[in-house]
Amino acid sequence: MRDRDLTSQRRVATMPLLALLLALASPSASALQIEFDYTYDTRGFFTDLTTGAPRVDRRALLDLAAAHYSGFADTLSAIMPAEGDQWSVSFLHPSLGGPGVTLNNVAIEADTLRIYVGGSPSAPGVLGFAGTGANLQATGSAAFVNAVMTRGQLNTTGPDASDYATWGGYIWFNASNDWYFGADASGLSPGSPDFLTTATHEIGHILGFGEADSWLAQIDASTGLFIGVASVAAYGGGVPVDRYGSHWAEGTISVRDGLPQETMMDPSTPFGERQLPTALDYAGFADMGWQVSTVPEPGAALMMLVGLGLISRRVRRIGAIRSDL
Ligand SMILES: [Zn+2]
Repeated sequence: MRDRDLTSQRRVATMPLLALLLALASPSASALQIEFDYTYDTRGFFTDLTTGAPRVDRRALLDLAAAHYSGFADTLSAIMPAEGDQWSVSFLHPSLGGPGVTLNNVAIEADTLRIYVGGSPSAPGVLGFAGTGANLQATGSAAFVNAVMTRGQLNTTGPDASDYATWGGYIWFNASNDWYFGADASGLSPGSPDFLTTATHEIGHILGFGEADSWLAQIDASTGLFIGVASVAAYGGGVPVDRYGSHWAEGTISVRDGLPQETMMDPSTPFGERQLPTALDYAGFADMGWQVSTVPEPGAALMMLVGLGLISRRVRRIGAIRSDL
């Protein structure tokens, strides 16, 4: 944002009228904020049920996962119900700890997504899943309904959608896994799925990956390849997707930190490996409507985790494959 502001000021000096018109045409975007809500963490995944204390190590890793999207920007309207306004959305209980959740008239700040998180034991084989819920409804002023349904974004639905918006979403994590809850990838072992990788992947689905109409609109009907401009540039051609169109195809390779790496948004990651966003992953998000700039290394969050003593090693085991939804 700072660089963008400097550029604007330079334009003002040379072409004030054009700069003013540009400013009017496209209000400058703000950094995306992701906030986690633990209200429905009722089965002890992020909360010590004996003491009621937060499990700060796991929550810090969730914030570290969100930091991989700190270079995203957009202009998302606040959802602030006034008198006569009402909205609701329903979703699965994030800890599978009761009936489904229906949110009624919660307030969400501008440029912010709220993600309700939890976890519970379930059959092995699945690491977690995420969604944005169902039965999204809003009544009241036109501006309020627009804020709920599209966050003020244009062209977010239908076969020609070009942008994406959501209020937020939910993530469930399967507590039956022998998760690696470390910030430092050197502590990974073959038997353990990496919590940071899965959390970052699931947040990606809430940001529309494999889900947004603006994502689906760019899957070519004849070839089945994803043909968004940024993704084609990053991959060198149309990108193969999985059979549901909800991920890159299994094993799709791109680049992270200058090195080849399997994409984070393919369907699975071998246990014991860390796969954070590659250039192609970020390109996919850009193609569905996010303004993606260089994402800084989340150094401050990493240092906090080091301070908490979360760098640890685990016993090696036979590798396995994770899958998630
Ligand atoms: Zn997935």
